[in-house]
Amino acid sequence: MKKKEVMQADKKYHMNVYGDRIPVVAKKGQGVYLYDKDGTEYLDFTAGIAVNALGYNHPQVTKAIQKQAENILHASNLYYFEIQSKLSKLLVENSCANKVFFANSGAEANEGAIKLARKYFTKQSKDKYKIIATKDSFHGRTLATLAATGQEKYQKPFTPLPQGFDFAPYNDLEAVKDLIDEKTAAIIVEPIQGEGGVNPATKEYLQGLRELCDQKEILLIFDEVQTGVGRTGSLFAYQEYGVKPDIFTLAKALGNGMPISSILACGDVAEAFEPGDHASTFGGNPLACRAAYATLKIILEENIIDQVKEVANYFQTELAKLEDKYAIIKDVRGKGLMIGVELRVSVKQIIKQVREENILILNAGENVLRFLPPLIINKDHVTKLIETLDQILSELD
Ligand code: PMP
Repeated sequence: MKKKEVMQADKKYHMNVYGDRIPVVAKKGQGVYLYDKDGTEYLDFTAGIAVNALGYNHPQVTKAIQKQAENILHASNLYYFEIQSKLSKLLVENSCANKVFFANSGAEANEGAIKLARKYFTKQSKDKYKIIATKDSFHGRTLATLAATGQEKYQKPFTPLPQGFDFAPYNDLEAVKDLIDEKTAAIIVEPIQGEGGVNPATKEYLQGLRELCDQKEILLIFDEVQTGVGRTGSLFAYQEYGVKPDIFTLAKALGNGMPISSILACGDVAEAFEPGDHASTFGGNPLACRAAYATLKIILEENIIDQVKEVANYFQTELAKLEDKYAIIKDVRGKGLMIGVELRVSVKQIIKQVREENILILNAGENVLRFLPPLIINKDHVTKLIETLDQILSELD
């Protein structure tokens, strides 16, 4: 098919949930570059939103998947799998979790995390089921994760949603206190809100939530679907904040492109599910586990996190210079390689102009430019983006 035919067939045969997609037919990826079917090479600062920690087509990850595919793709989870056990052990040994469960998407992991929190209390015959979430949050598109998503535009067409969800403004501890009652089971929060505009939590807020949860016998759930696996300059964002959750979820970057997500539970919460409570046909399949295992091993053994810190530091310093230079920039924020730049105007046109210079970037809402490059990005790549932005902003100002 020609590029144009792919796009036409999508319009004709695929449900139109993505609107006008970015006009790129992703044919191949290599490192930090994404290649369009028409041959155009794009420097990709969006890879992290979808999947990529280590860049496209990382040779060790690809090889691990190929080798696994030659043996077995999947069998029933009624069997044991060596690679699933090895991945579970690796995650537990490198986090505060005692046990994990594997699923296929961020929403599925969050859905399971909510179930786990409720089960933790029903198992103790306690009537605690309410979940407090935050305004502007994003936790997924299934009904319960939509119920936890604090953005009306996503929820409205799908009511009635599961009951028992309340919302407090982000970074507002007092508002959370006001919502808590004896039926509150859990608080679910992104350490940095992604879709909501790249809003980092303050340390005091997450520490305050931890203390509140301890006082009131409430579970603290961190949705690390976007922040996890090295993105913020720690393996997990909770480490960056020094605040341990009771449950946290991972997805996106975990399999470097393979669909795999995980619920990770700490302490006795890890024992809450009993046989029959939860399952997933494809969750934890050996192919996805093999990709995740290779990805984590590389991140842990090849100093990727230190590289993230260094390049992120440079990136944020350069953006701060642009902020000083252009009044149109309202705010630069984020942690590690999860960065948002809020403008005083809509970012749509700017994203298009940047793309015309063969660089892919994202928005988060109307006014925020979002940068989530692969973790292997280097300073030269960042410089290229900064120079491009500088040029475009200078024409706007
Ligand atoms: N949680 C967060 C924080 C997310 O950013 C996303 C996806 N943008 C999800 C959950 C849902 O993940 P998925 O699309 O894999 O279901």
